[in-house]
Amino acid sequence: MVHETGFYELLGVNPEASQDELKKAYRKLALKYHPDKNPNEGEKFKLISQAYEVLSNPEKRSLYDQGGEQAIKEGGMGGGTSPMDMFNMFFGGGGRMQRERRGKNVVHQLSVTLDEMYNGSTRKLGLQKNIICDSCEGYGGKKGAMEKCSICKGRGVQIKVQQIGPGMIQQIQSVCADCQGQGEKFSSKDRCKSCNGRKVERKKKVLEVHIDKGMRDGQKITFTGEGDQEPGLEPGDVIIVLDQKDHPLFQRKDEDLIMKMDIKLSEALCGFKKTIQTLDDRTLVISALPGEVIKHNDIRCVQNEGMPIYKEPYEKGQLIIKFQVAFPEKGWLPEHLMFQLERLLPPREDVMITDDMEEVELSEPDVSSQRRASREAYEEDEEGPRNGNGVQCQTQ
Ligand SMILES: [Zn+2]
Ligand SMILES: [Zn+2]
Repeated sequence: MVHETGFYELLGVNPEASQDELKKAYRKLALKYHPDKNPNEGEKFKLISQAYEVLSNPEKRSLYDQGGEQAIKEGGMGGGTSPMDMFNMFFGGGGRMQRERRGKNVVHQLSVTLDEMYNGSTRKLGLQKNIICDSCEGYGGKKGAMEKCSICKGRGVQIKVQQIGPGMIQQIQSVCADCQGQGEKFSSKDRCKSCNGRKVERKKKVLEVHIDKGMRDGQKITFTGEGDQEPGLEPGDVIIVLDQKDHPLFQRKDEDLIMKMDIKLSEALCGFKKTIQTLDDRTLVISALPGEVIKHNDIRCVQNEGMPIYKEPYEKGQLIIKFQVAFPEKGWLPEHLMFQLERLLPPREDVMITDDMEEVELSEPDVSSQRRASREAYEEDEEGPRNGNGVQCQTQ
């Protein structure tokens, strides 16, 4: 059975992706392709939100997994939400309902390190925004001096005729550039000199973004009313969405930090002391007692050394350490010393070999691509246990 995976590919995730992974993928792509940031990618923006609409709904997702896009269409479950509505629902500003006479919200992504989320930090973010012109108070010129636009004759639109082929013409209607679609404008002498009749000015505004201890990837920080100003409209919000950068050592899972630690076989068997540098630059010393025996992939935790909990920064999650035991390389011990080692290790089991048994040779796994391809085809037919064996063999 062929599964359709186009929606997953659009979002750049695996078909097994969790809801969190889907959210993160949508968040990144929607911000990247939003028409405000990327006016030429409207189609892409639409496709991304379509894919997310289906995959974020468990019912629609399972329908899609079974029967692809066709099943969604036949089930009458396609195209419920417009891409913009989807975007606004996802990034919505601080739970406030979108009111009629309100400018739109502006969403920015801010890339932050795990260190900043652990220790807290303040970032300055310079944004360009429209501010109502001081000189004309957003009127655009001398009060009562508006006159009908001579270019569009007051209609606010211009119609251009374009020849697109032999005997074929196309009419293109566009907003009048002269009066910005208003149908009226000021003559040059009455126009506000500060804003040149545009009613607003583009100014740089610096926002201080406080990243509190324990904040998460995807968390929103809303600056109410800091969006573009426009005469007659209540300004929208600026919404900052945190995007956590990967850390070379620690992975975060909710309030816990996860790290891998390599230890040698001798350390695994005979104990060790090791240090860990925390995100606030303390040095932790962890130890395993001689004889404790840490096996490959064993996990140990340090309580209260994970991420600080948001709004309760004195509480922390746990630090989870996954041990990776490095075995010595082939030939590390001369053969004549092997018996000494064996004497110290737990005894091994001897097998009685009888005539009805078959002795075969062990070799390294065959990695030549042709052999592997044919074996994979074979495994697909059988499914199940063979596959399982293959995986185990690789990790051992
Ligand atoms: Zn002005
Ligand atoms: Zn005009």
